[in-house]
Amino acid sequence: MQPTYLDYNATTPTDPRVVEAMRRYSLVDFGNASSLHHSHGKAARQAIDEARRKVAALLSAQPDEILFTSGATESNNLVLLGLADQGRRTGRMHILASSIEHPSVLGPLSALGRQGFNVELLPVTSGGYVDPDEVRIRLRSGTLLVSIMHANNETGVLQPVLEIAPLVADSNSLFHVDAAQTFGKEIRELQALECDFVSISGHKMLGPKGVGALYVKRRGTKRLPLAPIMYGGGQEMGLRPGTLPVPLIAGLGVAAELAIQEHETRERLASAIKREFLQALSKVEYRVNGDPSRTQRHVLNVSFPGVDSGALMLLLKGFMAFSNGAACSSAAQSRSHVLAAMGLPVERISSSVRFSWGPGVERVPFDRLIDAVRTLSESSV
Ligand code: PMP
Repeated sequence: MQPTYLDYNATTPTDPRVVEAMRRYSLVDFGNASSLHHSHGKAARQAIDEARRKVAALLSAQPDEILFTSGATESNNLVLLGLADQGRRTGRMHILASSIEHPSVLGPLSALGRQGFNVELLPVTSGGYVDPDEVRIRLRSGTLLVSIMHANNETGVLQPVLEIAPLVADSNSLFHVDAAQTFGKEIRELQALECDFVSISGHKMLGPKGVGALYVKRRGTKRLPLAPIMYGGGQEMGLRPGTLPVPLIAGLGVAAELAIQEHETRERLASAIKREFLQALSKVEYRVNGDPSRTQRHVLNVSFPGVDSGALMLLLKGFMAFSNGAACSSAAQSRSHVLAAMGLPVERISSSVRFSWGPGVERVPFDRLIDAVRTLSESSV
């Protein structure tokens, strides 16, 4: 038997209905969406238009505000690096971001820092979120951009982006939200959010890997402040050239449509699993990392005092698949910059694990988890 997969924040399985759409646009309607002189190309173009409408609907945006990319990493890079020219031209060289952003935001920010931008990373509370006042006091006339993720990938803590958005708008700076972990999940909040850029990813919401999008707010006929970071055939308003991966984009569209249709059922399932988790964990000593009242319903980051997270993962390898830290940084074996920014001591960080779940998770082997935690905490005394 396969271990129960509880690492949905790293990636989710792909919904079979998404795979079906990808199959159709790989095998039947496989045309190039720019080849509008024949029916293969037209069918592909229609699929792209439809997917764009579905993704836009999930953000309450207009279809022409959506650019398809290879994922949230690319979307984040495109926003941050693509605004650099605008910053230099206008003398706005100050950028604010939270200290718990994903490496695909922190990496381009370091590059901008080396190019002379003044990048300021905001602290977070011990509950793992940015206090809007920290943004308010730092915003100034030279602030080009504020970049705050919607939910943190390691803790699931939602950031107060709805409160931060009007502060940034008042200051005439631009606001970018990395919504890789919330697109298709925190639907109401994202539809209510007024900002300039939103990065999304397909593979965190039952869609395909290797596709995502960037929402770029239209400002009437005014030119977008964004410059491309690649040059080529002019696709996606010239901002993201390259032949569109129609199967992936069609798959993303289907995943977005299903996320709306099945939203309530998915929320109920996620909350039920969280309740069961907390009930099971009451049999051992544990500490939740991140303010529980602000945490997404499908995520639980916990520390088991005296238990090494790596040892726990090893002991449970045959039963449960979960993670310590983020999938993307585990290769580097670095200590979580997120939990460190929350001020958690080293021992607590090294005993922390993240469980994340979603549609398809039926039975969690809680008894195995409890046994493993007991075994390891007894051996540590
Ligand atoms: N931002 C966040 C918050 C993420 O969790 C991830 C994925 N771990 C990304 C960006 C990168 O997304 P993608 O895999 O689509 O490039």
